[in-house]
Order: sequence, then structure tokens, then C-alpha cells
Amino acid sequence: MNMQANTGNLKQLDQSHYLHPFTDFRDYAQHGGRVFSRAEHIYIYDSTGHKMLDGMSGLWCCNLGYSQPSIVEAVTEQMHKLPYYNSFFQCANEPAIELAKALVDVTEERFNHVFFTNSGSEANDTNLRLVSRYYQLQGRPEKKHIISRKNAYHGSTIAAASLGGMKGMHDQTNGLDYIHHIDQPHWFEVGPDEEPGEFGLRVARQLEQKIDELGEANVAAFIAEPVQGAGGVIIPPDTYWPEIQRICDERDILLIADEVICGFGRTGKWFGSETYGIKPDLVTFAKAVTNGFQPLGGVMVSDKVADVLLSKAGEFTHGLTYSGHPAAAAAGLATLKILREGNIIANAADTLAPHFQGRLQELVDHKLVGQVRGRGMFAAVELVRDKASREKLAPESAGAVFCRNAANELGLMVRQTGDAMIMAPPLVSTTEELDNLVDMLVQSLDATA
Ligand code: PLP
Repeated sequence: MNMQANTGNLKQLDQSHYLHPFTDFRDYAQHGGRVFSRAEHIYIYDSTGHKMLDGMSGLWCCNLGYSQPSIVEAVTEQMHKLPYYNSFFQCANEPAIELAKALVDVTEERFNHVFFTNSGSEANDTNLRLVSRYYQLQGRPEKKHIISRKNAYHGSTIAAASLGGMKGMHDQTNGLDYIHHIDQPHWFEVGPDEEPGEFGLRVARQLEQKIDELGEANVAAFIAEPVQGAGGVIIPPDTYWPEIQRICDERDILLIADEVICGFGRTGKWFGSETYGIKPDLVTFAKAVTNGFQPLGGVMVSDKVADVLLSKAGEFTHGLTYSGHPAAAAAGLATLKILREGNIIANAADTLAPHFQGRLQELVDHKLVGQVRGRGMFAAVELVRDKASREKLAPESAGAVFCRNAANELGLMVRQTGDAMIMAPPLVSTTEELDNLVDMLVQSLDATA
């Protein structure tokens, strides 16, 4: 069978049998999508040979790009040595133990314990279980309400989707009734008539209002990403996080930082919490911890929470067959080694990010651009029909969809969220490659205008 026939056949099989996540099933069955065949450095190739610069690091996970032989070798070696054993019932495996220690070493001093899952969604489910155990052990089971934010994405299991604040997901999910949502700190969308600093304080104080409404004795935790990623790379005003931190400290509720996207260098430091001076009690991680090469997530547990969890006997009745999977843990260890020894995060923060953000700022004068926002290797370009009124480009985001499709055709993988083009290029890109990314984005904007 020649390559062309094989490709055609695969596309047919894909459309006939495969239900894809976050996809319109009927549309996909009719039109199909792009099948990817291989990748190298920061480039992905589809089955027709079309080469694309991956401006999204996969799904925000391949921060080191696609050519990392030491991760592949570590996984292969581990698969030969011990391909599986569980970590339930007084058992452990070597790479999972070593990864726990490596994660403790790269997080702030308050974090000395980790619980492993396979994904960010499961890690956020785990957060709910850990939080409820934490309060039960203290004889405060009524502290069960969780506050999150509108338009947040925290995963796709029922609990994670409930934690998230995306309307489209809530419309299709019977969410948990003890989870509540306040506004997101999205100045461009929610508060354009206010001074950004004032806006940041006002939306942060909604947390205090929600705690009062529910009763402090009933509220367990607040969860948020340092920078809301899938929601549209929403960069909070500088006033926002200090006020949230003050409220969590004064009001006796736990702070959960979801670092599934922000973690491992994306915002310029190891974790977004460090970039924004946040002191979370629990940290959700996944994705870039293994450079996306193996499924692994988890929760970093601060001493404040761990001290309570370890204070009394009794089993924590929660876990996943693949919690701390040896091959995934080996991938995590190899990834952290590259991040630590390759000066990747500092180089991205000091050299790549200023260049990338500087080039993107050149787009503010483009007639379709309402706002350019970003931090580190993380950015969004908000499209508008009218700069002054911020009128949206087109109903149902057709303009941004058009722009994204144009970029894809040119050879740039970017994502569209609402009316924003969002980007998270690998931290191993070169400045020339970032120039190329921005040049292709400009061409896509010109084609949309
Ligand atoms: N939390 C955040 C902030 C995410 O962006 C995601 C996924 O994109 C998740 C959680 C869920 O992670 P996973 O897809 O690994 O379940």
C-alpha cells in the first residue's frame, strides 16, 4: 500500500470510528481533521507532509519541543526494567520515589509531599479529596464549599469540569453543587471602563463577598490558575493576586494554584505562583512535568496540609491504578533534569520571552488587534472589529477561526479561544523561530482583515 492510500485510509477510519475530545462529532465525521505523523524540535508534520511551527507546545505540554532523546531513553530503559507496578497498599517503585524528591526540590520549601495522578483533571479531583480529608481530620466537615472562577478550565472529569467555569461545559454537565464561581480578572472583557488596578482589586474582593455569602465556616478553598490559560491567557492586573492572597490568609481558606499550564517555566519561573508571589497550600501539576511524553499529573502538598493529613492514622481512600507509573515517572525525572541542567527556564525568561513579547507588541497597531497580552512564553492577541468600542470581530468568532485557519495553512499551529489567538511556544525555540511565528501571525491577521 503506498503512503497516499495509507493516509487516505487512515483519515477515513478516523472519521468513521474515532470520537475526539472537544470536537463537534458530526462535523468531524463529515469533514475530518488533520492527522499528525511525526515531529522534530518545535515542528510538527501532518500525514500530507505539511510542516507546522508548533506555537502551542502541543496542548501546552511539550515545553522542551519534540526532540528529547534522553526522555525517550529513560522511558525505554524503565519499560525494560519494571514496566509497571502499583503504588497502592504499602508498595512503591524507584522512579516515582525519585520524582517525588525531584519535585520537592524544584518547588518552594513549604512543599515536601506529592500525590501522583495521570492527568491534571484527576489531580484536581484529588485536590477535592485532599481538602475534604484535611477538614474532616480537624473535625470541620462542614467546610466543603469551593470557590473558583468563571471561564476557568480545570479539566474534564465531573469534579474538574465543575471546578471549571466554562459555560459550554456546564451546559453539558451536572456539576457539583458545592462549587461556586466568581468573575475572572479579565480586564479587557469584564472591566474595560475601569482603571486596571482598581478592576483587579474589585474582582479579587468578589472572593471575600462569596465567602461572606456562603459563611466562612463552610468554605474550604479557592482554586485558580496564576494565569488563566485555556480561558484565553488572561493576565491578571498586578493588584489581583496580592488581594486574593490577603483574603485567603485572613479568612481561613486553602488556596489551590492550578499550575497545569503555568508550571515548569511557562511564565518565566518554575511556577506561576512564584512569578505572581502567590503562596498556595496545594499545587496542581501535569502536562510539562513529562514534557507531554507520558501521562502524569499530581498535587504538591504544603506542610500546612500534610501535617494534618499525616497527624492521624487511617487510610486515605483515593488512588488510581497508574498513580506514580514507573515509565511516566522516569519521563518526569528526565524532563526535570533537562529543565534544571539546561538553563532552559532562565534562558526563556531572560532572552526568549522579552524578544517574543516585544515582537508581539508590534501588533497593537494592526487594525484587527484590540489587545496584546502576555507573560513569559505565554501570549494572546485579542481581535476586534473596532478598536475604540471593542466590538467583536464577527458572530461566533468566525474572524478568529478564519485567522487561526489561515495561520495553520501558512504553517503555524496557534489556537483560537473566543476572539483571541493564543500562543505558548516551546521554551527551546530560537529567537529566529519566534520571529517566524510572529511573521506568520501577521500574515494571518492581514488575510483576515
Ligand atoms: N488544569 C488546567 C489549568 C488545564 O489547562 C488542564 C488541561 O488543559 C487541566 C487542568 C486538565 O488536565 P488534563 O487534560 O491532563 O486532565
